[in-house]
This record gives sequence, structure tokens and C-alpha cells, in this order.
Amino acid sequence: PYVIASPCVDTMDRSCTEECPVDCIYEGDRKLYINPKECIDCGACEPVCPVEAISQDRRVPEEDEAFIADNRAFFELA
Ligand code: SF4
Repeated sequence: PYVIASPCVDTMDRSCTEECPVDCIYEGDRKLYINPKECIDCGACEPVCPVEAISQDRRVPEEDEAFIADNRAFFELA
């Protein structure tokens, strides 16, 4: 699945939510989250993010790897 990382924190542009065909991007207090169980890996969200916060989980920058677990925790997927 795709993951939203640090650039989204306190940005929350929301362009991605309009692109997602399965509406699997949800709002948290400070950033948006992609539900990994619902994401169909289409990639439509990635290019529309103005701060380049979105990438496939295998390509998340090393310094942002904690966001993969944080994302799962948000959906209580452990
Ligand atoms: Fe939605 Fe596609 Fe982005 Fe997954 S990759 S969050 S399905 S737009």
C-alpha cells in the first residue's frame, strides 16, 4: 500500500483524498492516513500531493520509516 509520511504533518493539503478511487485516505489530527487494508496501490494520490508526502511503503524514505507503523497503528492494525 501507499503511505503518507512526515511532509503531511500540519500540512494536510487533502488533494489526495479527491484522487483516491476507493476513498481510503482518512483524516487524523495533524496528518492524513491511508488505510493499508483498503488501498489498491493505484498510485493516483502520489503525484497530486504538493509536498510529496506519499509513496509506496517499499519506497518510504529511511528517515520516515516510522510512519509505516504509525499508519498501521492509526487503523489499529498493530
Ligand atoms: Fe487511494 Fe490509490 Fe493512493 Fe491507495 S494508491 S491511497 S488506492 S489513490
